[in-house]
Amino acid sequence: MIKEKRLNNKIIYFIIFIIVIILLALLVKANLTLKDEFENSDTIIFLGNEGIAPILYNEKGRAKGVAVDIAKALGKKTGHKIEVRGVDWDEAQNMLLLEEADALLHINPNPEREKIYDFSDELLESEFSIFIKSGNISIKKVDDLKNKTVGIESGGYPYTLLENYDGINIEIITDWQKGFQDVASGKLDAIVVDRWIGEYELAESRVKGIQIIDQPIEFQYSRIAVKKGNKELLSLINNGLKEINEDGTMAEILSKWKEKRVIYLTEERLRSTFLYSIIIVLGLILLISLYWINKLSKLSKKLESDVKQRTQELHNSNKLLRKANAELEKISMSDGLTTIPNRRCFDVVFQKTWDISLKEGKPLAIIMIDIDNFKLFNDTYGHLAGDQCLKSVAEGIKSIIKRKGDLVARFGGEEFVVMLSNNTEDGAAMVAEDMRMKIESLQIKNQKVDSVITISLGVAATIPRDDMCPYDLINWADKALYQGKEEGRNKVTRFRSLYNNF
Ligand code: GH3
Ligand code: MG
Ligand code: MG
Repeated sequence: MIKEKRLNNKIIYFIIFIIVIILLALLVKANLTLKDEFENSDTIIFLGNEGIAPILYNEKGRAKGVAVDIAKALGKKTGHKIEVRGVDWDEAQNMLLLEEADALLHINPNPEREKIYDFSDELLESEFSIFIKSGNISIKKVDDLKNKTVGIESGGYPYTLLENYDGINIEIITDWQKGFQDVASGKLDAIVVDRWIGEYELAESRVKGIQIIDQPIEFQYSRIAVKKGNKELLSLINNGLKEINEDGTMAEILSKWKEKRVIYLTEERLRSTFLYSIIIVLGLILLISLYWINKLSKLSKKLESDVKQRTQELHNSNKLLRKANAELEKISMSDGLTTIPNRRCFDVVFQKTWDISLKEGKPLAIIMIDIDNFKLFNDTYGHLAGDQCLKSVAEGIKSIIKRKGDLVARFGGEEFVVMLSNNTEDGAAMVAEDMRMKIESLQIKNQKVDSVITISLGVAATIPRDDMCPYDLINWADKALYQGKEEGRNKVTRFRSLYNNF
């Protein structure tokens, strides 16, 4: 345990030792690089026009801009310390002559300047352009500036440019915002400046109502100027420029500042661009909406036809189901052997008829029928013959019934029941007698009793009352039937005859 702890401590000390070594190595390397960088550490002072943002401008006392970044990159490449100062442009040019600085950043050569400076290779592209009041159709090109008042920066290339044209009233601008305001108000007819600088200043100052003439007066490459004869510095700068152009540093700096470039649009162009954008967006929305409406309508049509089809199918199956149910109802209500209504059907119809008769105060009659000596018939001829006999008897009884409200049903076994609505016991007894005679007339031999198949019938009728129950009537008819059986069969027995004056 203690051994293990000691081992752990050793590992920790070793790791700390390695980290310290790495840190020391890093420090030494950083020091060497620093030394490297300032090997030729004489500071080269670059001066630039402080009023040409984003190419050069002062922010919190420090020079900033594209040209400043390029100068710094030059310093890095050549191993020199570089200082860039943004000052008044006229002053800057004097300072170089007085050797208070080493080079001028972003300057366009002209014959006069070439007498006193030596110029480097190309630095930045300038598009000297005309900015005018929106809608001013009198100025379309540089020749139209004749007799016009044109604002330019002090000591800049536009002066050289416009000098070549006669009759232009030049005015020096010290404040860009005011200058552009003067153009917008008509005090100045135009401003000539590098397009990049003009657009940037316009966007910064937010002056409205200014338009740019697309075709620039001149393309120029600005350069770095050194005092005439300072060949050493010039070659150093040119070497540096070559290097940063070749290794991509220049492209990197330009793309960084181009990202910040302000695309200046006239209000008119802005409005039409906005309008076109709105039209395009609305068009797109319309197209997308149309596509979806079309898709949805197709979908809804399909859904509609699907629903229709399903409804039809459902309707058809409902129809089939209703038919099947009716069939089933019919089957469940009729007797399988004789096909006349069964006991279930009788119970339903009888209850309904009883209720109607009760309500209307009309008589209702029941005839209970039983085949005589049917067991013996079955014993003699077999069950199949018995079934056939049952069918014939059912058929015979049914043939006597004519009225619509009457019903013949198989009550069970070889027993049948007849319901005669709106009929009295007398009337029912006459119907019963007809039935009895009908069955006898069928002459179905019943050998065991040396006779033919006959039936016994019990008749009962009543005008239903509230204190009665429907099966009272069945019981009475049944009683009469069995009285008939006792009295020798093949006869109609009336319930009233059992109980005098019932
Ligand atoms: P009774 O004159 O007293 O009515 O004598 P019966 O023989 O007709 O009466 P019983 O109640 O003794 O016998 C009834 C017979 O009816 C017995 C039974 O086999 C027969 N039976 C009942 N239902 C059917 C049927 O569906 N088919 C056949 N073949 N016979 C049946
Ligand atoms: Mg019986
Ligand atoms: Mg019988």
